[in-house]
Amino acid sequence: MFLTRTVNSFYNALLSVIYPQACALCGASVEDRCLGVACAHCWSETREFNATDIMCWKCGALSLGTIAPEKLDQVRCRRCDADAFTAARACGAYDGALRASVLALKREPYVSRHVVSLLVKTQERAPLDKATRVIPVPLHPDREKARGFNQAGVIARELARAVRLPFDQVSLIRTVHSERHRAGMDAKGRRETVAEAFSVRYPRLIEDESVLVVDDVFTTGATVSACAAALLDAGAKEVFVLTIARPHRAAPLRTDRILAADQRG
Ligand SMILES: [Zn+2]
Ligand SMILES: [Zn+2]
Repeated sequence: MFLTRTVNSFYNALLSVIYPQACALCGASVEDRCLGVACAHCWSETREFNATDIMCWKCGALSLGTIAPEKLDQVRCRRCDADAFTAARACGAYDGALRASVLALKREPYVSRHVVSLLVKTQERAPLDKATRVIPVPLHPDREKARGFNQAGVIARELARAVRLPFDQVSLIRTVHSERHRAGMDAKGRRETVAEAFSVRYPRLIEDESVLVVDDVFTTGATVSACAAALLDAGAKEVFVLTIARPHRAAPLRTDRILAADQRG
């Protein structure tokens, strides 16, 4: 153990001398290969989400305001009511080092050890800790061939290995090339195009499972919601979503109880 660590840190030091990696954000040299594309300082400036953040329990959108810790699971943004997934979480805001990491993953099939540790932390927190199986958002085979890899698959495989959950990239498939039609479409159009894009090839593998769907970024939620709908239709018990990042726009705090009061008044 100690020896491995010594060899590792020696290897890191050697690598940073031979191939000094410049931080994708500030240009300073990255101190440790584990940090990936950003330096320690830029990582420290990046907003990571944690257990005390007030967020929509379902979609993970941040909320403004204060609430007692035991009521955190009552917070809802209501914009995600129609989404099929049970709950979605991201490691942090789509900004700074997390954004740089996501962009780097589109070019190279590599997830830094630091990003893996953030994914593990998020997965081990409720409600994602109930997951029993990890499934990446699939790319259409033509697109995967063109890029050479599916970035969601790379993230999902690393996470599954780290938390020792089964990694399944065969059950869920993409049948429609939806990305091509997206330009110029409004949110509703995008949602409709993506809705029929996924199907489950091996329902027996996901029956009664608490599936964790993994993608790089959570934007509108339309893609992961369509995956969740297909998985639930095929017999999954619940579907959670984990992404590296999501846009960071805090909305006013709402809870079920506040909403009930709204509706009465
Ligand atoms: Zn930096
Ligand atoms: Zn929400």
